[in-house]
Amino acid sequence: MADGKITREFKKGKNMKRILTGDRPTYDSFHLGNYVGSLKNRVKLQDAYECFFLVADLHALTTHFDKTSDLEKNIRGLMLGNLSMGLDPKKVTFILQSQELEKLELAYILSTLTQRTLLERQPALKEKLDQGEQDSLGLYQYPVLMAADILLPKANLVPVGKDQKAHVEFARDLAIKFNKLYGEVFPVPEPLIGEGGTLPGTDGQIKMGKSLNNAIFLTDTPEEVEKKVMSMYTDPKRIHATDLGTVEGNPVFIYLDAFASDSDKQQITRYKELYRKGQVGDIEVKKFLVKILNNFLDPIRKRRAQFEKQPELVDKILREGTKKARIEAQKTLTEVKKAMKIDYFV
Ligand code: ATP
Ligand code: MG
Repeated sequence: MADGKITREFKKGKNMKRILTGDRPTYDSFHLGNYVGSLKNRVKLQDAYECFFLVADLHALTTHFDKTSDLEKNIRGLMLGNLSMGLDPKKVTFILQSQELEKLELAYILSTLTQRTLLERQPALKEKLDQGEQDSLGLYQYPVLMAADILLPKANLVPVGKDQKAHVEFARDLAIKFNKLYGEVFPVPEPLIGEGGTLPGTDGQIKMGKSLNNAIFLTDTPEEVEKKVMSMYTDPKRIHATDLGTVEGNPVFIYLDAFASDSDKQQITRYKELYRKGQVGDIEVKKFLVKILNNFLDPIRKRRAQFEKQPELVDKILREGTKKARIEAQKTLTEVKKAMKIDYFV
């Protein structure tokens, strides 16, 4: 987005467009994939949009219902993660999903507009079931609850990773359907997909995931980063450093492209050339990646350490954000019920 546009949106003041995005507290930290898919855009856009960022504990339950004792730690961890990225609680309203009761009401209403077979066919569901997740109703209706996440604050833009694009499109369709049936209540939300696409896992799987045991976390120590990078999946066809290597789709080069600062770009181009010709070993390139990642992570680690010293402040930011979001949520819900003519006792 051009800076000019950011300034224009900002000047709109009260009529600023809104962003909704969020994360599942299935771990107590973000990983590099979350950064590429969503966090990077969040940081960029917090000045230009009114931001609502969700800690999606209800979504976490769909796969982690047997790990609720970790939730509190994970929720705090994600809040620390958001704050250490430089997100400013004066600009951003943080919401704890399970405490925003209006959402469940809207999700129910939206479920009555949802075709069951559509939920059955969603690719993300198939993926989760293939991974051995429980075949629960909660997992099926994930997109309906996510549509409520997005529509309740009347979000215009939803920064998410590519894996979540279909869910945002699902919310779009529901907004259009609702507006057509009952009158214009919801803006039609747009997904904003991170430039880097889906970041692969250190094991070469197509997606790095909090729950997939293939992630480099923003809280990993320099030593952990080194250990993970040095055992990373690269080009499986390449046995010796003198074999011709493939750069495209190779996670080491994908990470290099995603996290290098401008001053490193020339060296990366050089390594790509040498790698293709079989003139540089994996170990040398990986060592370079360790350096790049630790340079990227250092300031984030420092900021997190500052917030870690103030747990009461972190909790307060989430509590007060949720309170504020509920006021907006109640306004939307009143409009929804009025449009549907089910506002009986108001
Ligand atoms: P889980 O494995 O528990 O689902 P996750 O790693 O997929 O965790 P989420 O909390 O589900 O993380 O997603 C948070 C945001 O990060 C979403 O916008 C999602 O699209 C994005 N995201 C997650 N993994 C990646 C990835 N590997 N590449 C790009 N974006 C990602
Ligand atoms: Mg996920």
